[in-house]
Amino acid sequence: MKTLICPYCGCSLVRLGISKEKAATYGYDGTEYHFCCQDCANEFAADPEQHLQRTKDLVVCPTCLAEKTPELTFTFEYAGQEVPYCGCPYCREVFLKAPDYYIKRLEGTEATEGVGDFIRGGSDRDAITPISRGDGDFDLLIVGGGSAGFGAAIKGAELGARVAMAELGTLGGTCVNVGCVPSKTLIRAAEANHRRTHHPFEGIAATNGQPDWPVVRDHKDALVTGMRETKYRDVLRSYEAVTLFEQRATVTSGNSITLADGRQITAGKLVITTGASPWAAPIPGLAEAGYLDSTTAMALDTLPSSLIVIGASAVGLELAQMFLRLGVQVTLLEALPRIVPVEDPAIGNALAEYLAAEGMEIHVGVTIEAVERNGSYTVRFSQDDRASTATAEQLLVATGRRANTVGFGLDDVGVTLGKRGEVVVNEYLQTANPDIYAAGDVTGEPMFVYVAAYGGTTAAENALTGNTRPLDLTALPKVTFTDPQVASVGFTEEEIRYQGAEPLTAELPLEHVPRALAARDTRGFVKLVADAGTRKIVGAHILASEAGEMITELALAVQFGLTIENLTSAFHPYLTLSEGIKLAAQTFDKDVSKLSCCAG
Ligand SMILES: Cc1cc2nc3c(=O)[nH]c(=O)nc-3n(C[C@H](O)[C@H](O)[C@H](O)COP(=O)(O)OP(=O)(O)OC[C@H]3O[C@@H](n4cnc5c(N)ncnc54)[C@H](O)[C@@H]3O)c2cc1C
Repeated sequence: MKTLICPYCGCSLVRLGISKEKAATYGYDGTEYHFCCQDCANEFAADPEQHLQRTKDLVVCPTCLAEKTPELTFTFEYAGQEVPYCGCPYCREVFLKAPDYYIKRLEGTEATEGVGDFIRGGSDRDAITPISRGDGDFDLLIVGGGSAGFGAAIKGAELGARVAMAELGTLGGTCVNVGCVPSKTLIRAAEANHRRTHHPFEGIAATNGQPDWPVVRDHKDALVTGMRETKYRDVLRSYEAVTLFEQRATVTSGNSITLADGRQITAGKLVITTGASPWAAPIPGLAEAGYLDSTTAMALDTLPSSLIVIGASAVGLELAQMFLRLGVQVTLLEALPRIVPVEDPAIGNALAEYLAAEGMEIHVGVTIEAVERNGSYTVRFSQDDRASTATAEQLLVATGRRANTVGFGLDDVGVTLGKRGEVVVNEYLQTANPDIYAAGDVTGEPMFVYVAAYGGTTAAENALTGNTRPLDLTALPKVTFTDPQVASVGFTEEEIRYQGAEPLTAELPLEHVPRALAARDTRGFVKLVADAGTRKIVGAHILASEAGEMITELALAVQFGLTIENLTSAFHPYLTLSEGIKLAAQTFDKDVSKLSCCAG
């Protein structure tokens, strides 16, 4: 293995991010030598023989790129040859996962595409950037062991950093324990219950019966426990460079935390990933009455006979329909004029009709006046200047989530907080304290787990390599897991008009999509928004049973500037719901009633 080492100072050029092409060179005795800088090349030129002698035996570990003298070098066997390395079993293991990549990297030639992307975390980099270590116990210290924290820890380990993570509660954070995973499995369970009596197929007998909620809930808990072990704890165990402290952390400076047991841990950089918690709007009587939030609602001992849900954004809507489908009588109250208020208006209007048809009582544009509890709950609200009340056995408040930023020292270390208590960061996820980065829900909206994970990865990379990668949320897909699901990406028609432009739009009701007809579920539509000049897709808004599965294609279209013609000319298998995307794109220029299944 031919290693690129500066023959004057002995540094690994690869570790410094200097490819062969970018290195300073000097020819001596018929050989071209590569240097980390021109100064080294000049010094070398003064006495080449002496410097070649000095550095000739140095080796570089192919994985961590540490420069080693022969006494400190170990070897292992790979493909019939001895590979010199630093002696760390982790380095040997990682090397063996992608040997071609590491060999080529060491030689200063381009890494194999794909493997290199995987290891380096992106295809747009042309050099491995050296990481800054500082002189602390660790290079990177992460406060919070949820999805953003995991993204940061894994990225840090991949970059060769010594990483520590502090987690005060249950490892894995919101998504796996009390968020995405439990809610989505309960939603599917509730759907199965609903389909026993509500399916569109003739000849298939409906079977009535009550769900066994404790069994449903325990089944959910078993899934959560299993996924927490396999997707979080086991994953962390496989990264030897990451040390986990299962304790509360208090931030004491840009480079240190104190653990609950009093230990002080230091690091070059900090990443704050402490997430967010359910937040209740200030409603008179609410605190005294007590209420359910998303976490306690999914852990109830018994199903209530009736439930009022305040808040019709994703969490409120998903849980409202979930309980409705388990046989609970649900009343939904929303202050804004529509449910799913951040989505295209047509989606909120249509979804409200479908939910009402299932039996949900929905009131939008309401002002909640007060909550009282007298055995059951009474919520007093006004709607169109008319006073109304809703009563139910239980009350679920889903009016948003607020960042966890209070009570662990952030106020004293120069980190700026925003109006809703979120950590304010720049595009590199760096806070006002240059040594502290933050990612995930703690930085405020948008609060999605894939944004948190991407943010954690980005923050760790920027913290360790010096602000190289800005956070890019331009083509962010969003999904609300109601049935039918809501999924969107990019601009709405109204947003384009607000910017002073006239968009092209196409809307295809699902009754024109063969898959929906075959499944006898034609609820919803696909709406596409394109730029009138370039015909590039700039937005997509879908209401469909599996809208969440369809939106990624359109997120790619928005991100990579695909045109209407790119969508219409691509194969979309028959019968799939995603064929609706192609058909919707065709309706920019064709009459929908003249589209055949086989029109190409
Ligand atoms: C009901 C519900 C359903 C959801 N469904 C989806 C979905 O389907 N899809 C989706 O993309 N998103 C969904 N989300 C959002 C998603 O769960 C979050 O965006 C994501 O989990 C946030 O990750 P995070 O790492 O930023 O924070 P978290 O996962 O909350 O992690 C923060 C961690 O920090 C720890 N911590 C806090 N303070 C300290 C301290 N001082 N010291 C040590 N540790 C500390 C906490 O204990 C916690 O474990 C849902 C959320 C909810 C509530």
